[in-house]
Amino acid sequence: MQNTSDVLVIGAGFAGLIAARELSRKGLSVQILEARDRIAGRTWLEPRMGRSLELGGTWVHWSQPHVWAELSRYGIGVVTAPEFEKAYWHADGQLHEGSPDELMMILDGPNRDFLAPSRQLVPLPYEPLSNLAIKEADQLTVADKIDELELDPVSDDLMRSFWALNFNGHIEDAAYTQALRWSAAAFHEWPIMFETCATYKVQGGTHTLARAILEDSAATLTLNTPVTEVRQDDSAVVAVDRHGNEYAAEAMVVTVPLHVLDSLRFEPELSAGKREAAARGQLGLGAKLWIKAKGAHERFVAMGPQEWPLNFVQAEYLDAETTTLVAFGSDADAVDVEDAAAAEEILRRWIPDIQVLEISGHNWVQDEYARQTWPMHRTGYLSESLPELQRPEGRVHLAGSDYANGWGGFIDGAIESGFSAARNIAEQLHIRQ
Ligand SMILES: Cc1cc2nc3c(=O)[nH]c(=O)nc-3n(C[C@H](O)[C@H](O)[C@H](O)COP(=O)(O)OP(=O)(O)OC[C@H]3O[C@@H](n4cnc5c(N)ncnc54)[C@H](O)[C@@H]3O)c2cc1C
Repeated sequence: MQNTSDVLVIGAGFAGLIAARELSRKGLSVQILEARDRIAGRTWLEPRMGRSLELGGTWVHWSQPHVWAELSRYGIGVVTAPEFEKAYWHADGQLHEGSPDELMMILDGPNRDFLAPSRQLVPLPYEPLSNLAIKEADQLTVADKIDELELDPVSDDLMRSFWALNFNGHIEDAAYTQALRWSAAAFHEWPIMFETCATYKVQGGTHTLARAILEDSAATLTLNTPVTEVRQDDSAVVAVDRHGNEYAAEAMVVTVPLHVLDSLRFEPELSAGKREAAARGQLGLGAKLWIKAKGAHERFVAMGPQEWPLNFVQAEYLDAETTTLVAFGSDADAVDVEDAAAAEEILRRWIPDIQVLEISGHNWVQDEYARQTWPMHRTGYLSESLPELQRPEGRVHLAGSDYANGWGGFIDGAIESGFSAARNIAEQLHIRQ
């Protein structure tokens, strides 16, 4: 066979880039096969609306040890967002205005009660099943748990919206344990969790970090190569691309997102547990939208009911004549990333005279190489699916933020999982360095 290497890595997102770097630094020959014409996967820095905008993963934090170590290694800093000056929240059928602190105070008590069990149930965030009592909590949904709090109508609406934002999806099937895991990873402090999610951006953009990792590796990268089939037997593992080309190796890291997994044909099939997890899927199926509004607005944050197409907006870039906002909604089907008039109609529910000039975004759910945004799990995923997805299947090792222990769903989780796959493969191939 023409294309042979020690290890094949399917996908050049953060998990794939890390696994490839680590394995190539151990002296193995590594080939990365990437379906797209670019690296970095679900992170994507693109020139849009006159700026470089992050269409996918964006924010990082020092509470995230893996991504922070990579930023330090390459001397890449972060950009700090200016303080918020104003908050709008639509709750209990009414528009409210106030300071960002007032909004945080409404969410503070309910979130503390909601997340109170995180220290007991997730004492070690990077070993999320270390307390087996979490298995029972893994059957609870976020919506059930909020019901239990019996909140006043304003707090109740805001809590549901806040968690729909975090899940980038509907909270009715959302695993309560996923919320506990986020809290645990943020030292059991929800304000740190919130800060982690949307405050510090990578200097020069996520692409700067992805490129630094790639350049620090001896792996070969082949773009525009969607893999359609993976075969393995006692002698090798083979990937077949869309054009019928075959690539053979001793071991393989497959980093495609959970929702893409069942578009690949595996021979022999993946285990029943892995197939069931892929078929069941996850809940991060929402939208992220960039909006350029006329005029210099205050730096504001706005929240609306969870069912609004966009239920969270924050002013991200303030210029003399325009304000660039970033917005999220729980259902990608409800947001047309080209319909500026629809975005303006929603924004006017908070700020009646706002004028939208332009919008931009990417529909990740319709993207055949993503099919989801950030992975957020259903009930039962942690206790029933995660250990099985992490278990290597012969020569095939899954990696990606969908399969991480700690900050699953984040760039940090992708990096963590890339390290695990590299470690497991080195062990399997008896590489000691
Ligand atoms: C809108 C949005 C906002 C987000 N916000 C944040 C944030 O602020 N902070 C944060 O930390 N995280 C955020 N995330 C999540 C973060 O971006 C991801 O968790 C992380 O980038 C996933 O990395 P990965 O390597 O696991 O997967 P991916 O980045 O999805 O990489 C998988 C790679 O596999 C490739 N691939 C797929 N199918 C095939 C195939 N058949 N053959 C070959 N290659 C294939 C894909 O093209 C892709 O490059 C966000 C994600 C989205 C979508």
